[in-house]
Amino acid sequence: MADIRNRVCPLCNCENHKIIYRDCGFNIVKCTNCKYMYMNPVPLTAALQGFYNEKYQCSEKDIDKVVKGFAEGKHLFFDDRLELIKKHIKAGKLLDVGCNYGIFLKLAKENNYDVCGVDISYPAVEYAKDKFKLNVIQGTLKRANFPSDYFDIISMFDVIEHIEDPLSELIEINRVLKKDGLLFMTTPNTPVYLIKARVVKIFPFLAYYKGNFPGTPFKANEFGLPYHINYATPKTLKRMLLDAGFKNIEFDLCKKEKYYGRHFRNFLRMSYTLLTWLFFKLFRIYIPAEISVCVKK
Ligand SMILES: [Zn+2]
Repeated sequence: MADIRNRVCPLCNCENHKIIYRDCGFNIVKCTNCKYMYMNPVPLTAALQGFYNEKYQCSEKDIDKVVKGFAEGKHLFFDDRLELIKKHIKAGKLLDVGCNYGIFLKLAKENNYDVCGVDISYPAVEYAKDKFKLNVIQGTLKRANFPSDYFDIISMFDVIEHIEDPLSELIEINRVLKKDGLLFMTTPNTPVYLIKARVVKIFPFLAYYKGNFPGTPFKANEFGLPYHINYATPKTLKRMLLDAGFKNIEFDLCKKEKYYGRHFRNFLRMSYTLLTWLFFKLFRIYIPAEISVCVKK
């Protein structure tokens, strides 16, 4: 890929790193200073943003099918997240960053939250507005330029790993949240995916996708390359959240299964969910495939 640029560490700005994994022509590197992991080099901003318009662009007839599939896949995950939010705060102004087709926002709206969304994908935003009649802005969070101290709740599910400057995104989230407002976020737990990627290289039949990621020119891989460009661990995410001005960082265990799938895979997932619960309760070691946190401004 010709149009690429080098990055410094998104967490500590250090230039020194070592390559820890390569797949599909992309490098995952680890900062030698703070241990944060990130893609380096990365495609240029325009190319990264273009991926999302292409990914979500399909014919009008097909888009309903895509959204239905997405909603089914995410159904239990979103239910689980909403339950967690309800436990902390029953009503208020909620912003979903990277809201995609608006499926989570629709659910939150049905549960009486005052909702609003932002996403960089034109086709996804148009769908959220037309079909679900949601208040959604196309573009980045910074470009949306919300007032300071404005939202009670911000959700950002599986988004931070896509963003070129994740720390400044979290600082912007902190700015637009009210005092004591809450951020709920999820992102892949990188050490688990490093193990998974290595296992899948040995046993390719365990891979979730065969061929390309659906509707994209990219060969499927466990890391979601080149869509995912930041790779957090509980420790580095915690440091980034503290650096962005958050406090009270609570790690949560996602209780329900995220996707439907073949029986063997589901059996593996259920066993793993049980194992993560045991590790967390007995040893306070956090090993779910997804990091889920609730933090306060
Ligand atoms: Zn660093």
